[in-house]
Amino acid sequence: MKLILLGPPGAGKGTQSVELSKRYGLPHISTGDILRESVKAGAPLGVKAKTYMDKGELVPDEVVIGIVAERLKGSDTKKGFILDGFPRTVKQAAGLDKALKSILSGIDIVIYFQTSNKVAIERLTGRRVCKKCGFNYHVKNMPPKKDGVCDRCGASLYQRPDDNEATVLNRLKVYEEQTKPLVEYYAKQGILKTVSGDLGVADLFRVLSQMFSEAKLA
Ligand code: AMP
Repeated sequence: MKLILLGPPGAGKGTQSVELSKRYGLPHISTGDILRESVKAGAPLGVKAKTYMDKGELVPDEVVIGIVAERLKGSDTKKGFILDGFPRTVKQAAGLDKALKSILSGIDIVIYFQTSNKVAIERLTGRRVCKKCGFNYHVKNMPPKKDGVCDRCGASLYQRPDDNEATVLNRLKVYEEQTKPLVEYYAKQGILKTVSGDLGVADLFRVLSQMFSEAKLA
């Protein structure tokens, strides 16, 4: 199953990707995670990307298209994959189509997480992430047992630098302007399915699992 999760930041794409990746044994490919790894490693790519990420702007198309085209050549993507946070522009979607033509067949399904701004803002500004294992918490909806400490591995939690309110508002604006046109792009191809990103984690996972089994994708 070759899957794209599309929707604004804070829609729950990352959280659902982790669950779907476990359930269906598919690699989870998040351009945001790959870029953050590069920032952490101090790689030239990370140094360049950080200037965009900190402002909530998109990293240039050619950079992310290159990252994804390279990643899709990995041997673990033969049976399928979950793309989370990519494509984010029509140009990236065209780059993906091109990369898939030379590597694999096309995308099976694009899930659009339709999400209200209120929910997205609340989720992002309250999000806390484990420094070591990357698990996500929320100060209100899913607090750790001990303040600031990961339940799973005991490492400390941090707030992503782009999860402050001003940057979150810009990320949502960038989404509306540059990424939302992809809803139409994939609807025209007849492969778009819409779910509510406002649902809680377990409810949304149930909806997605049912959708895949009905579409005989899993
Ligand atoms: P995310 O973790 O998906 O919220 O992404 C965090 C940040 O990484 C975004 O605000 C962008 O600056 C950058 N980024 C991630 N994916 C892409 C992409 N497909 N195109 C451009 N920039 C991206």
